[in-house]
Amino acid sequence: MVNNLRKTDPINPSEKVLDEASGIIRKGGIVAFPTETVYGLGADATNDSACLRIFEAKGRQSDNPLIVHISDFDQLSEISGGVSHAVLQRLEQVWPGPLTIVLPNRKAGKVATVGLGTVAVRMPAHKIPLEIIRRSGKPIAAPSANKSGRPSPVTAREVVEDLGDKADLVIDGGKSFFGVESTVIQIRPDDILILRPGAFNAEDVKKLFQMKVRISGMQSDSPISPGMKYRHYAPSKKLILAPDENYILEKCESGGNFAVLGSKELAAKLNCETIVLGSRYDLYEVARNLFPSFRMLDRGKFDYGIIEPFEERGIGLAIMNRIRKASEG
Ligand code: AMP
Ligand code: MG
Repeated sequence: MVNNLRKTDPINPSEKVLDEASGIIRKGGIVAFPTETVYGLGADATNDSACLRIFEAKGRQSDNPLIVHISDFDQLSEISGGVSHAVLQRLEQVWPGPLTIVLPNRKAGKVATVGLGTVAVRMPAHKIPLEIIRRSGKPIAAPSANKSGRPSPVTAREVVEDLGDKADLVIDGGKSFFGVESTVIQIRPDDILILRPGAFNAEDVKKLFQMKVRISGMQSDSPISPGMKYRHYAPSKKLILAPDENYILEKCESGGNFAVLGSKELAAKLNCETIVLGSRYDLYEVARNLFPSFRMLDRGKFDYGIIEPFEERGIGLAIMNRIRKASEG
């Protein structure tokens, strides 16, 4: 059993838990907490040895930078010197929220930014991290609170499953709302590059900035975002992305020791083991259940999994990005 777990309400979090967490951050410790996207493992972004502990706890490659979380706009100008008035105005419309932007770095440490000269920043739409940042007075570097390569955690139980007692504190604030990570963008002279599709829709990025949007990895872009070159978000078992529904129907006819990960609409037509992701007409529901379904596949008696493809619009773009990464190799 771990004794570093504290349960609290996500809307009205306990003062005591928030003070304990911010005290740990100030002293250079690491704390796992819920956000609206997934659970994060956080440390003071300006403290290199604290950030190093995140890399060690996760087994994260040392060239993969962390997202730095802030709680207000004053902190943005402290962290990054290079935010234009036009960009600031747009961020004010969507923060707090699941959009991360890569900017010139001013104050984040070498370890958090892996010495890139840029820093990825976001303001999370969740009371618990916002309050921990505010009370500690520190920007908090936080990747997802999973072992590197594993599916991101959306519950405290999954954090403990991966990290055990490696975090100084794990805050249980219920299930994360979106279930997929933030959208990471970089503004270029002629367009916006989406380095990682996520909970903030690409269509909304386009509307917000009124600029052309390109999605990294879809064209011939080299991986500007170092994290993108790694296999990611994956169950330990093999996962096959089905080309279409018929492929799954035929597989189920011929049998085998696999689980289907799919919508309830597909499950209704199948006569084989299915881990239901929700309705294919509610992609937010599918997103919330996606990473937990990878963990269910691993826990079950199956040899492998076959997953249904989903429509690549709205949050479906992030869903398909995670499924492709998980089924590679
Ligand atoms: P996570 O591991 O879920 O926290 O993902 C963070 C993502 O943001 C990874 O894909 C990183 O490579 C990316 N990222 C963080 N900092 C930067 C940066 N300065 N430039 C480009 N990508 C970044
Ligand atoms: Mg991650």
